[in-house]
Amino acid sequence: MPDNKNYSKVSVLVVGAGPAGLAAAIQLKTTKPDVDVCVVEKSADLGNHNLSGAVLEAEPLHTLLNAAVPGWQDSDAAKDVLANKIDSDDIMFFLGKKLAFNIFFAIKLSKKLGLGFGQMIHKGDYSVSISKLTNWLGRIAKNLGVEVLTGFAARDIILDGAGAVAGGVKLVDRGLDKEGHKQPNYLEGELIGADFVVLAEGCDGLVTEKFVEKANLRRQNPQLFSVGVKELIKVSPQQYGQFTSGRVVHAMGYPIWTPVIGPGMFGGGIVYAGAQDLLSVGMIVGADWKYCDFNVQDALTNLKNHRFVKQFIEGGTVVEAGAKMIPEGGYHAIPRDPQTGSIGKGNVMILGDSAGFVNMLKIKGLHNAIDSGMQAAKAIVRCLDHPERAAGAYTELIDRSNIAKEMKSAKNFRQTIAKLGPLWGMPLSALGGLLPRFEIERDYKAMTAARYRLKPNQHFDKDTFTAVAATEHREEQPSHLTILDSKTCKTRCTPVFNSPCITFCPAGVYETIHDEVKPANPSNCLHCKTCQRKCPFDNIRWMVPEGGGGPRYKRM
Ligand SMILES: Cc1cc2nc3c(=O)[nH]c(=O)nc-3n(C[C@H](O)[C@H](O)[C@H](O)COP(=O)(O)OP(=O)(O)OC[C@H]3O[C@@H](n4cnc5c(N)ncnc54)[C@H](O)[C@@H]3O)c2cc1C
Repeated sequence: MPDNKNYSKVSVLVVGAGPAGLAAAIQLKTTKPDVDVCVVEKSADLGNHNLSGAVLEAEPLHTLLNAAVPGWQDSDAAKDVLANKIDSDDIMFFLGKKLAFNIFFAIKLSKKLGLGFGQMIHKGDYSVSISKLTNWLGRIAKNLGVEVLTGFAARDIILDGAGAVAGGVKLVDRGLDKEGHKQPNYLEGELIGADFVVLAEGCDGLVTEKFVEKANLRRQNPQLFSVGVKELIKVSPQQYGQFTSGRVVHAMGYPIWTPVIGPGMFGGGIVYAGAQDLLSVGMIVGADWKYCDFNVQDALTNLKNHRFVKQFIEGGTVVEAGAKMIPEGGYHAIPRDPQTGSIGKGNVMILGDSAGFVNMLKIKGLHNAIDSGMQAAKAIVRCLDHPERAAGAYTELIDRSNIAKEMKSAKNFRQTIAKLGPLWGMPLSALGGLLPRFEIERDYKAMTAARYRLKPNQHFDKDTFTAVAATEHREEQPSHLTILDSKTCKTRCTPVFNSPCITFCPAGVYETIHDEVKPANPSNCLHCKTCQRKCPFDNIRWMVPEGGGGPRYKRM
């Protein structure tokens, strides 16, 4: 174990207080109250960095809470978070700016025929604020005795010499100035030692990816991502009443896909009912788009102006907004130990979005994240005397769980579209398990000099977007965004693609200053990490900034 003067030790260290990490902590404390569990979370407060649709398939949550908190259904928090049960589920196809066709019948038919698309039915689920859900789970964990440390960002995992067992996790230093010099308030990032390390950082986790590399884990296919941008809009009581509180709408087609003439992107729009008079409107687009002037917020603008959507939100006020990525690669992109197949190694387990447990046929990952947390807790309990066996035990449990069943059932959906495009890939993906695994490229390689033909005239107001995301960082800290080689930007990217990072970053972090592209406004960053995955030359790296910075979602 490396020496460190700030060394401290816990039994179980969870990185990330999202649904996955908190479910692991709650389940563990419920089964083994004596085990000390610590969760580190980079956001200032619980739920601040958690943004999603979100349609929640609640069974794993119910299982978790039934054991942990008897009578939880009667609590005010439960009634608040689970207030919107879905009774109306529209799946629309938008053709152009005005036409909308409800194709829910096709999804129902798919279900009858046993096709994968049949999984897209959401009736009986809940439309929730994931920020509120996370905050609630965090409070439950604390009540059970879990130490939940918000404002603590992890930056690395420390492995023993043989690379088989993790000694602990290193936190981000605080109190450095922009040049990296120590200021009077400098505090070296603590090393928290642990018998078990649970990586639950969500999509494209920094520590997770370092661990994947250090422990030589492999993915059969590269992870694919999509970028989601979302606004929470306060509408009039009439508009809310017209939409109804139990309704979710998923829209395919315009403005990201039109048959034959394009554009040809994967993804879609969402409109979900939130709390009274609040509607969530979002756009989720596969990051393998090829248009160098494309920004998911442009698609959101077009979606909001579509006649079907406009009727519900016209005149409304955006009260919160944000952006986040989703891991879409599916079953073939789960990182595993090539020798044992473990999703992790030794005493380290990878959970939720960090492992890529999103079922793209459902566009849902929350239920799998919570379920993976419960499986990790069970594995830890089984291996208390042999922490080095935990990843193996966890993987066995995952492989027998509903997570593996779902991930297998959806394994050829997204990769087929990535390989063949939406026009052919979408219908062909119905062949499901009969299809082979395709060799696919990383998202950033898809960039071309082609332009998005539906670019709105309206310039998207990123300043207001980041203002309502309430994002901020301590200004006097080293930039957590690095352009690896500025010459590549100048000689290869700008001449061909016109510096797409300036356009696609939803927070307007990148600018050209004196002829050089720079991450000029790192304090605007929303931690979506799109830049790291979409720079056409893989020339940008995202680090975790000092804990406590970033967006402050409360109702998303
Ligand atoms: C736009 C959008 C729409 C979605 N719609 C749906 C939907 O309708 N239904 C559904 O089921 N799923 C949906 N998802 C997916 C769902 O949000 C995720 O599957 C789920 O949140 C995963 O939970 P998690 O705990 O693994 O990760 P997260 O919820 O991302 O939580 C990870 C936590 O770890 C913290 N963290 C990360 N790195 C560090 C670090 N180094 N140090 C300390 N803390 C760290 C983060 O701040 C965060 O709080 C959607 C996602 C998006 C982006």
